[in-house]
Amino acid sequence: MALTAVDIYKRLPQTNCARCGSPSCFVFATKVALRQEVIEKCVVLSEAELKDLKVVIGEVRTVMTEAGANAYAQAAEEIKGRIRDIDFRRQANGLGAQYLKEDDKEYLSLILLNHKYKVSKDGDVIKDDGGSPTAWAKIFLIIYINMRGEGGIKNEWVSFGGLPKTFAKQKSFKDNSEDVLVKNFSGKKTQLKTACNSLGGMDVSSEFKSDMAYRFFVLPKIPFLLLFWDEIPEEGFPARVKILMDRSVLAFIDIESLVFLAERFARELVKQGFGDS
Ligand code: SF4
Repeated sequence: MALTAVDIYKRLPQTNCARCGSPSCFVFATKVALRQEVIEKCVVLSEAELKDLKVVIGEVRTVMTEAGANAYAQAAEEIKGRIRDIDFRRQANGLGAQYLKEDDKEYLSLILLNHKYKVSKDGDVIKDDGGSPTAWAKIFLIIYINMRGEGGIKNEWVSFGGLPKTFAKQKSFKDNSEDVLVKNFSGKKTQLKTACNSLGGMDVSSEFKSDMAYRFFVLPKIPFLLLFWDEIPEEGFPARVKILMDRSVLAFIDIESLVFLAERFARELVKQGFGDS
């Protein structure tokens, strides 16, 4: 039987404690399948569980090497079916998406990080500009639609730590998104500005006390506010970054996926700023 990153995930403790350095068990499983991480880094597994998982991973590696597959793509394929039973016409408004019917096929049209996508009920994702959607874009679109978002944005910015039940994941949120931006953009405000503009951010610096503030609609009902204070070397102040979100965010995405989304958001900014993924 072909095993995937999801198979590894199913055998992990699923506590999302982040002690392995990944923001969640799902992200860790994907990295292990991609050979970017070693399973031993999950410190929660017992010796017996670890031994068992090593066997599983051995199979995954064989399958992936033979197929040249990508674990993100596999994960995207596996979650496609989750939206089949959703009433697209009814949910479109709540998700901030547009309902489309073309050739008897139903779609939701929605924007993810400045790119427009069409998602069919079979979970197929089409990028509006004709390019190929990345596997992680597919994953977020399916997860977002599957939340069947209802209600509006509250227009109240909160930090990740200000959301309920996020304590265990605060470190990984900071390490994998805010600190990535600090590391890459410290002393490089112009590059960050360029990256924010490329990613469709709106400059709202005049509304905040930080050196720079940009608002993004990462998904139609998920705005992020990026606040940046640049370093002042002569005074010994390091750069600081805060990523804030609307208080309503957990109506539109689960905590684990939000951590992953912020990580992806940071990486996209780095990519736009320096051409690095
Ligand atoms: S160490 Fe990583 S993989 Fe293991 S339980 Fe914690 S988050 Fe999950």
